Amino acid sequence: MTPTFDVIVIGAGIMGCSTAWQLAQRQLKVAVLEKEFVASGGSGKSSAIIRQHYSNELTARMALYSLRVFQDFEQQIGGESGFTTAGFLVAVAAGDRAGLEANMALQRRVGIRTELLTPEAILELMPGLFVDDLVVAAYEPESGYADPYLTVNAYAQAARRLGARFFQQTPVTAIRFDGDRVVGVDTPQGAFAAPIVINATGAWSAQVAQLAGIPLPVDACRVQVALFRRPPGHEAPHPVIGDFIHASYFRPETGGLTLAGLIDPTEAEALVDPDAVDEQVDTAFILDVGERLIARYPAMEASQSTGGYASLYAITPDWHPIIDEVPAGSGHFICAGFSGHGFKLGPAVGLMMADLATGVTDPLFESQLFRLDRFAKGLPIRGQYEYSIVG
Ligand SMILES: Cc1cc2nc3c(=O)[nH]c(=O)nc-3n(C[C@H](O)[C@H](O)[C@H](O)COP(=O)(O)OP(=O)(O)OC[C@H]3O[C@@H](n4cnc5c(N)ncnc54)[C@H](O)[C@@H]3O)c2cc1C
Repeated sequence: MTPTFDVIVIGAGIMGCSTAWQLAQRQLKVAVLEKEFVASGGSGKSSAIIRQHYSNELTARMALYSLRVFQDFEQQIGGESGFTTAGFLVAVAAGDRAGLEANMALQRRVGIRTELLTPEAILELMPGLFVDDLVVAAYEPESGYADPYLTVNAYAQAARRLGARFFQQTPVTAIRFDGDRVVGVDTPQGAFAAPIVINATGAWSAQVAQLAGIPLPVDACRVQVALFRRPPGHEAPHPVIGDFIHASYFRPETGGLTLAGLIDPTEAEALVDPDAVDEQVDTAFILDVGERLIARYPAMEASQSTGGYASLYAITPDWHPIIDEVPAGSGHFICAGFSGHGFKLGPAVGLMMADLATGVTDPLFESQLFRLDRFAKGLPIRGQYEYSIVG
């Protein structure tokens, strides 16, 4: 007999697991179908920086809501997220000052703590940072980073405790409809039935949506991260730094390491088949990101490279996600395309997605902004910066 559920969630990344937990809390019978294992996609390799610097009110509110969950994770979800309050400093070029200050005003309106720092104040915060090219920076004392693998697995465990069933190594190969309504999915392990199916498959979401006959503007793109051991005298952890001038970011990692990556939109040009991505880091990338890191934090000249890895972003044309029922009234939902900045929003996205799927009429987070048809209508979401990755 076909196992029957209230909801099938496809994909066990942060979005699938957070959504499953929210749905299980509502006493719904949930199945999570994952082609590999929990957190095997982009979520498990995320840099998991939890900052709140966003250009629109909805995402800023979602980031703040999610930060509060990370700060109280053990109580609210159970298990560990590895959240560390390191502080987050975003440094922009002079030309982006107006955008920075507009974002900060918006953040303060929704209750986010953020301060404008002069170069002198930046040096007090992090002695050794190169500040000669900086005019101002925004600093969020409450922000930081999490352990992505722990976080996603904690959500999965929390969902399991409430009765959600996880089927790993269970790829969805077909999505079934009866007329206008979704009725279930097929996998090599057999069929699963449910009147609600949620595609939360990240970089694979376009290929999975194709199983429902829906073209989705989500590209899979390969992105890399490199790790460096801080030199003697610089062992102490530092704040998370978002450096617009060198289009890079870096944050402390356990073991005296600093993890560095890019916020360079050219990274989005590395489109790949998500099933054939090379997960090894390129030497050229280590050299490139290392130079950007040294330019901002000169002591890292004496650091030691300890490798890195590559993973996948799921990118939409405006670098914002698609959270929508497609077609309307079908029970088939998309929750994907988080474009390099979704991890920090995971707790809020789970709530938004569960509210949308269960027809909550007064949701805390209205999903309208993330409708799929914004692209066809020529109404993409716009931010303050050229770097859409920042949101
Ligand atoms: C290197 C890197 C650094 C990042 N840094 C940050 C950061 O600092 N801060 C931040 O907020 N965000 C960051 N992000 C982005 C963030 O991690 C992603 O937006 C988020 O993790 C996406 O989660 P997801 O659940 O949508 O996708 P995923 O984690 O990719 O999950 C999708 C899952 O679907 C499964 N799947 C695919 N096809 C099928 C199928 N047919 N059947 C069943 N299962 C299937 C996959 O195996 C996968 O497990 C980063 C991402 C990367 C890659």
